[in-house]
This record gives sequence, C-alpha cells and structure tokens, in this order.
Amino acid sequence: MAKYLPYFAEGEVVKGFGRGSKELGIPTANFPDRVVEALPKDIPCGVYYGWAMVDNGPVHKMVLSIGWNPFYKNQKKTMETHVLHKFKDDFYGSTLKVVMLGYVRPMENFSSVDELIKAIRADIAETEKQLKLPKHEAFKDDNFFKTNGEGS
Ligand code: ADP
Ligand code: MG
Repeated sequence: MAKYLPYFAEGEVVKGFGRGSKELGIPTANFPDRVVEALPKDIPCGVYYGWAMVDNGPVHKMVLSIGWNPFYKNQKKTMETHVLHKFKDDFYGSTLKVVMLGYVRPMENFSSVDELIKAIRADIAETEKQLKLPKHEAFKDDNFFKTNGEGS
C-alpha cells in the first residue's frame, strides 16, 4: 500500500450506520460515497494512521479504517476516521480533511467486542508511536491543512 501513501482526502462528515462505535467510545466520522469512490481501486482495506482536521480546527492524530460495508452486502466500501481528540459536540456536516500515512493492519472479524476494543487500543498505540517520527510529524504542518480548498 506504500505506493498510495501519503493519501489525502477531504469531504463532508455524513451519517454512518450507527453501528455503535460511539457507544464503544470510538466514534468514527464517515466520508460520503464520492470520497470513498475516489480511493485507488486496489488500496488495501484495513486500518491506517495519519492526521485529521475538522473544519479549520487544530490538526489531530487519527486512525482510519477502509472496509466493506455489510449493510450493502459488501458491495460498498466505507472510510471512517476516529479522531484522537475529545470533541464537545458531534460534527456531522463539517469538512474533514485527512492524510493517511501508514498501514497498521488488515480488517479482521473479531469474535467479541472486547477483542475489537483491544485491537483498536493497539491501533491507537501504534498510531501514537508512528506519528512521533519526524517524517510523519512533518505532515501535521502540510499545506493541505492550511488551504481552504478554494485556492487561497
Ligand atoms: P455514525 O454511524 O453516524 O458514523 P458514530 O457512532 O460512528 O456514528 O459517531 C460518529 C460521529 O461522532 C461523527 O460523525 C462525529 O460527528 C462524532 N464524533 C465525536 N467525536 C469524534 C471523534 N473523536 N472522532 C470521530 N467522530 C467523532
Ligand atoms: Mg461512524
């Protein structure tokens, strides 16, 4: 997947399927179809780490998953970002910008919620570690996060 990274994406935060991510303490902001369909066709599904920005707020660490959506009989992909920041409110309708910098692991079917949560904790720990590396940290200040998409 390295050939596709860094991968930059930007779009409006839309409603997902309420799979209970928030109840698990790991809400995932979903990108609209247009953004998902723009992904390189053969980019691997799985968990990625990188940086994220909501509207023109601060740049935060994030973990992002690309996966097939069972709701659509696995015909459709989803792209979901968990921002490593505690927000006061939901931000549906906001503009989310992300840069994916590295791959953590493929998607897995966990047999229990506990296992899933453990895996996500490990993903987050790996993300924290990776993003400290100067080559990854540098993207926090990338121009991508400074322009507003209208060329100014
Ligand atoms: P949905 O199925 O609609 O995506 P989730 O349970 O995954 O529902 O919650 C996602 C929503 O939670 C996001 O769209 C966003 O508005 C809100 N949210 C609050 N904090 C975060 C966060 N740290 N990372 C991602 N989304 C968050
Ligand atoms: Mg979600």
